Amino acid sequence: MTRSGQEYLQSLRDGRETWLDGERVDDVTEHPAFRNTAASLAHLYDLAHDSAHTPVLTRDGVHRAFLVPRSYEDLVARRRAHKVWAEAGFGFLGRTPDCMAAAAAGFAAVPGVLAGGAYDGSGPALALHRRLADGDLYAAFTLTNPPADPDGEDPVVRVVAEKDGGIVVRGAKMIGTAAVFADEVVVGTIEPLAPHDTERAVCFSLPVGTPGLRLLSRTSYEGRARSVFDHPLSSRFDENDALLVCDDVFVPWERVLTYRDVDATFAMWWRTPAFLNLVHQAATRFWTKLEFLTGVAVLLTRANGTHDLPPVTQAIGRLLGRVAQAKAFVLAAEASYEPVDGGRGGVAPGKDISFAQRIMAGELYPQAVQEIKLLAGGGIVQLPASGQDLLHPDLGPLLRKYVRSPGTSAEERVKLLKLAWDALGSEFAGRHEQYERFYHGAPHVYLMQQAWEGDAEACEALARSCLDGYDLTTGASR
Ligand SMILES: Cc1cc2nc3c(=O)[nH]c(=O)nc-3n(C[C@H](O)[C@H](O)[C@H](O)COP(=O)(O)OP(=O)(O)OC[C@H]3O[C@@H](n4cnc5c(N)ncnc54)[C@H](O)[C@@H]3O)c2cc1C
Repeated sequence: MTRSGQEYLQSLRDGRETWLDGERVDDVTEHPAFRNTAASLAHLYDLAHDSAHTPVLTRDGVHRAFLVPRSYEDLVARRRAHKVWAEAGFGFLGRTPDCMAAAAAGFAAVPGVLAGGAYDGSGPALALHRRLADGDLYAAFTLTNPPADPDGEDPVVRVVAEKDGGIVVRGAKMIGTAAVFADEVVVGTIEPLAPHDTERAVCFSLPVGTPGLRLLSRTSYEGRARSVFDHPLSSRFDENDALLVCDDVFVPWERVLTYRDVDATFAMWWRTPAFLNLVHQAATRFWTKLEFLTGVAVLLTRANGTHDLPPVTQAIGRLLGRVAQAKAFVLAAEASYEPVDGGRGGVAPGKDISFAQRIMAGELYPQAVQEIKLLAGGGIVQLPASGQDLLHPDLGPLLRKYVRSPGTSAEERVKLLKLAWDALGSEFAGRHEQYERFYHGAPHVYLMQQAWEGDAEACEALARSCLDGYDLTTGASR
C-alpha cells in the first residue's frame, strides 16, 4: 500500500549520515536546509491518499510507476501519474520517487539481462522491485563517477573484498540527486566500462541509513532562502545533490544487482527498459516545467504591461510552441511503444523518440530561460531584499507607491518577480539549467549514442534516392 507523507518522513529518521557545511545533520525532516523539501516530497505521498488523485496515481494500492506496463494504455496511465507529481513541484523536483520506481520496473520487465556469466543478479533485481513497490519506497541513484587520478587511489565505488554473505565496497559517486531524501540509493554505472574494469563493474541498492554510507550535501538553497515569499521555489523544492561516499560498506548478496560483470552492469540500464522509463518520467516533468515557466512569462508580461506588444506576443507564441514540442515528445514516445525484447510481456516507450528527447530538452531549456529573462527586463533584479520591507511602517508605503505597475499592486508584483527570479536567475535556477543539460548524461556521450543508434541508414537512403534520380544528362526542367 502507498505510504502517507508522515510515514515517509518517519522513514527518513534512520540515523543516515548526511553532512552539510562541515556538520552532521541529525534529522533531514527538521533541519532548516532540508525540512521544507522533505515536506514537499511528503505531500506527494499524501496526494496518493487524496480521492481526487488516488485513481490516477495508484492501481490496487500501488503507485503506477512501480507497475510493469503491458500496453500503450498502461504507459499513458503511468504518464498521468508522473504528471500529477510533476505539477505538485512545478517541474522542479526532478528525481521524485516515481523516477527510480519506473527504472526498477524496467529491471523487473527483463531481469535476465542482469544474469551475467559470473553472477546472477536477476533475483536481487526482482527483489529490489518487489521491495520498493511493496514498501512504496523512495530510491535515488548515483551512477556518475568522480574524476580519477591515474597515479592515485581509485576514487570510484568498487569492490574491495568478498565476505560471507556479500561484498565490501569503497569509493564515491557524484551527484546523488535527492539521495538525502530517499529510503534507498542504487549505486551503479551507466556508461560503458573497459573490459578490465571488473572491480568497478558492480551495482547494488542500499538503505541510505547503512553504516559507512555518507552523503556530503552541496550548498542548500533551501537553507539560504529567507522565506517562502522571497524564494518560493528554492525554499520548498530544493531536491539536493550529494556526493555519495562508501567507506568500506558491506552489501549483502540479496542487494547486489551486478557483480564483476562489465556487460551486465552497463546492459541493465540499456537492454532493459530502465533508462527509457527514466526518460518517460523526466520528459513528463520537463513538459510540466516548461508549462510553468511559460505561465510565469505570461504573468510577467501582463504585469509589465507588455503582453500585447506584437514582439512580446510572438515570444509567448514561441514559448507555447516549445511547450507543445516538449509534450509531443512524451506522447510520441508512448505512441511508438515497443515490446520489451526478451522480456516478460512488458512494453516500453519508443527508443528513438526517448533518446532524442534528451537532445531536445538539454538544448531547449537554456534557450527558453533566456527568452523569458529577456521578457522580464530589470524588474526581476530591482526587488526589495525581503518581503518584510512591504510590512515595514516606512518602507511599505514607499514600495506600494513606487513598485506597482498598472493593474498590479506592489505586493503582487514583488511576489511574482521574486518567483520569476527564483526560477530563472537565482543560484537554484542556475542549478536547474545545469540539471536539464546534464542529468541524462553529458552531450558528448548521448550525441554519440544517438549517432550510433539513430536510423542514419534510412535518412541516407532517402538522400541517396534523390541523388540517384538524376545525373549530368538529366534536363534542366521537365
Ligand atoms: C544537477 C545535476 C543532477 C544530477 N543528478 C544525478 C543523479 O541523481 N545521479 C547520477 O548518477 N548522476 C546525476 N547527475 C550527473 C550527470 O549524469 C553527469 O553530470 C553527466 O553524466 C556528465 O558527467 P560529468 O558531470 O562527469 O561530466 P563530464 O563527463 O566530465 O563532461 C563535462 C564536459 O566535459 C567535456 N568532455 C568530457 N569528456 C569528453 C569527451 N570524451 N569528449 C568530448 N567532450 C568531453 C564536455 O564538454 C562535457 O560536457 C547530475 C548532474 C547534474 C548537473
